[in-house]
Amino acid sequence: MTIDYMELITNIKEMRQFSSDAKKAGKSIVFVPTMGCLHEGHASLLKKGRKLGDILVMSIFVNPIQFGPKEDYALYPRDLKKDLALAEVNKVDVVFNPLAEEMYPDNFQTAIEVEKLNNYLCGISRPGHFKGVATVVAKLFNIVKPDIALFGEKDYQQLLIIKKMVQDLNMDVTVVSMPIIREADGLAMSSRNNYLNKDERRAALCLYTALLKGKDMFHNGVTDAQAILQKMRNIIEAEPLAEVDYIKICNVNTLDDLERIADKALLALAVKIGRTRLIDNIILSNE
Ligand code: AMP
Repeated sequence: MTIDYMELITNIKEMRQFSSDAKKAGKSIVFVPTMGCLHEGHASLLKKGRKLGDILVMSIFVNPIQFGPKEDYALYPRDLKKDLALAEVNKVDVVFNPLAEEMYPDNFQTAIEVEKLNNYLCGISRPGHFKGVATVVAKLFNIVKPDIALFGEKDYQQLLIIKKMVQDLNMDVTVVSMPIIREADGLAMSSRNNYLNKDERRAALCLYTALLKGKDMFHNGVTDAQAILQKMRNIIEAEPLAEVDYIKICNVNTLDDLERIADKALLALAVKIGRTRLIDNIILSNE
């Protein structure tokens, strides 16, 4: 089978059929799940994905079950036309854009929970979020049947949870992770950056400034996590539009808090800028 133009598939049966046919024809499938409102962070996953296999599938699905009742599901930015253009530029073969009603019919009642990794960072601030993420990713894997799936380190905890789900449930998918893509001034790219007004956009830089401060202290020999966290907190708290949700230094695999950094740590934070909750992280490493 050959594809010489991009396909938009909006129903599950058709997507399953497409993937079955591709497999029968001996093609490998590479998959990039997204919630749309695409930016250069997503594009980096697509560019890498393009090189990893024969057929590149991207899903665009704003997943209702990963949003809490007071979160921004209804408001989440959607721009399918722009997304399709970016997909085409990045040589996507198939865009899968299912309807929420078909993904979650009335009597839907199954969920996947990665129990331990859920109890840290965003899992605490957003109860039920990762259950929604794991469940939708498992569904998408079953529908798209990818050999390889790409995820960004921007959502570091999500990446660990997906890897654990794949391992624990013996899913036949290789998970590939990609580094965080940033704006020129360092702000991590995110669809939610669209919510920020001019003052908030300027204030949002405090996340990256704080991360760089932490990194700088570590590279200057500070290994006491509390000392680093306090300086980072001071930076965020000096910004009137910012409110800390969490700032953590943790084990890169288990997400347990570290008191002292030996040779590797995840430095992660979530901060509200006005009404917009942003997350970012860096890995500290002596290696
Ligand atoms: P989302 O559309 O926010 O669900 O993101 C879809 C995928 O893109 C996830 O695997 C994210 O981790 C990844 N992603 C989002 N923002 C970035 C970024 N700035 N750099 C790298 N990957 C990203």
